[in-house]
Amino acid sequence: MVAWPFIGFRSHGRRGALAVLLLVLAPSGCAADHPLPDRVLDAHVHAAFDGAESAGGTYSAAEMERAFAAANVTGAVVMLPRGSAGTRDVPVPSRQCAGIGPEPDVSGVAAALEADAVACIKIYLGYVHRAPDDAAYAPIYDLAARHGVPVVFHTGDTSTSDAKLKYAHPLALDELAVDRRDMTIVIAHCGNPWIETAAEIAYKNPNVYIECSALMTGDMDELDPEHLERYVTDAIRYVWGYIEDPSKLMFGSDWPLVDIESYVRAYAAAIPPEHHPAVFHDNAARVFGF
Ligand SMILES: [Zn+2]
Repeated sequence: MVAWPFIGFRSHGRRGALAVLLLVLAPSGCAADHPLPDRVLDAHVHAAFDGAESAGGTYSAAEMERAFAAANVTGAVVMLPRGSAGTRDVPVPSRQCAGIGPEPDVSGVAAALEADAVACIKIYLGYVHRAPDDAAYAPIYDLAARHGVPVVFHTGDTSTSDAKLKYAHPLALDELAVDRRDMTIVIAHCGNPWIETAAEIAYKNPNVYIECSALMTGDMDELDPEHLERYVTDAIRYVWGYIEDPSKLMFGSDWPLVDIESYVRAYAAAIPPEHHPAVFHDNAARVFGF
């Protein structure tokens, strides 16, 4: 991810707090030449309103409501923090993904799935120093398969420098996808910057889907237009073209790190308009069971 608005300056540890601070301060509704889809399911948001999340900063349900309204977001997939299956109140219908920590709480996740409190699983590759096929995750995958819920994997660049990228490289998900055909996998962030690898894994494996959230952070309208085109819209256009399957790509923002409205417009510019209903709504509705 490229930190906003420090053009040409990679993110590392500074990304989260600065991005959230500047996001709050930024004026909204700047130049936007691409129309918003009528309804958007955001397949990747965070909703820790206590400021405790590793993404940094403090933000509120009211800010989420404003961001969702501005972008026509009618439903959201909430990534719960690592080690948490405790759901959050959000202003739209949601599916909430139990966040798996370094020592997976198998019984806690099982109970949350039984109670229909959570409807997906989030594995924080890189932040947790385990490969996706680590034995510690096997009981979690068994639960996901048994309940028919998708498992979302953080892939690629991380917002903290003490994460380990070798665990976040998307290539390792291919082996998991082959060995666990009973499980639905969602690659988050398109593997950025290993976007071609992530696209290939989604293209090749029938049980893998992909979203391109947070390729850059902040308000897309505040970016150098060349950087926005290169690192966001062109990257999404590549994934869309490569996977050759309109059912595979979903929209995700990674709010609050990203201004949703401007991100939707940048994403929409990469997708032929006739496929907007699939990419911005229907694919996530089907995969996450809305
Ligand atoms: Zn995220």
